[in-house]
Amino acid sequence: KNAIYDELKNQPATTLDGVAVKLFVNTGLLADLSPGIKHGADGVGLYRTEIPFLIRDSFPTEDEQVQVYQKVLEAYQGKPVYMRTLDVGGDKQLPYFPLGIEENPALGWRGIRFSLDNIQLLITQLRAMLRASVGHNELHVLIPMVSSTQELDEFRDCLSKVMQQLSAEGYAVEMPKIGVMIEVPAAISQLPFWENKIDFISVGTNDLSQYLLALDRNNSRVANRFDHVHPAVLHELYRIINTAKSYRIPVSICGEMSSDPVAVLLLLGMGVTKFSLGSSKLPKIKYLIRHVVKQQAEALLQKALEKDNVIEIRKLANDFIQKIN
Ligand code: PEP
Ligand code: MG
Repeated sequence: KNAIYDELKNQPATTLDGVAVKLFVNTGLLADLSPGIKHGADGVGLYRTEIPFLIRDSFPTEDEQVQVYQKVLEAYQGKPVYMRTLDVGGDKQLPYFPLGIEENPALGWRGIRFSLDNIQLLITQLRAMLRASVGHNELHVLIPMVSSTQELDEFRDCLSKVMQQLSAEGYAVEMPKIGVMIEVPAAISQLPFWENKIDFISVGTNDLSQYLLALDRNNSRVANRFDHVHPAVLHELYRIINTAKSYRIPVSICGEMSSDPVAVLLLLGMGVTKFSLGSSKLPKIKYLIRHVVKQQAEALLQKALEKDNVIEIRKLANDFIQKIN
């Protein structure tokens, strides 16, 4: 199939009945930028800024961050880049800034909580992102692990102050689009309140599934029970997509679901048209999308939503995929 995948590079990810899907890449390493471009990615749907922080032995300075972020924006010139602010804590520890032992790290000091409590780090990072984006108007800033309106408001205040500061210093900065990661279940019912505060959402299906199922897939004792097409996860995703639709908030999906053909079909059936995934998985998912009729994915979804277990859901979707190939 490799030859087929190569040919796909310049073909759009459009379904047989003409629904245009955008496929973005997840990245964090500069070394990952060219594979994404090679596979014809439509942009970067998740740039994990913690990765350049994790591979160093001290915090990168503002200028050092500007250089890294510029490379990403330049590589994807004219295409959207969703840059996520630092998402450390939980399973991602900075070697030079010990977070201390926590009884429940997954529920602890991580994501935006950590950044707001270390506001100078956030200010430096936002300054670097905005400075890097001068001349590239496709910067989208993504906030990880948001669970309350206060966090979103504090973040927005910080961003406005940084914008003012930079303008006063003479930088021609423009307001980026702001989005939140939907990965804490509490964010789901908050979404209607955030309609006028955000420009988009990105659903982090790894953490969202982990928190909905209260199940750590990195724990080998329970990992075999983890499946992101669990009916409870599907029903919550459907709720997120429908809420976002009714408030006209653009949605994209990052996390492992975007590279699982079964999940992609079901999400397509829900109306998702933006997926972000590891670049090596992109051709396979593009191939799938180009061979699906969206209306049939909708019908598949409706059948799946009536099932109460993952075995039957996967069987339905896999039978569907068999007919495509
Ligand atoms: C997620 O939680 O699904 C996600 C994409 O974020 P990360 O994997 O970086 O936690
Ligand atoms: Mg996450």
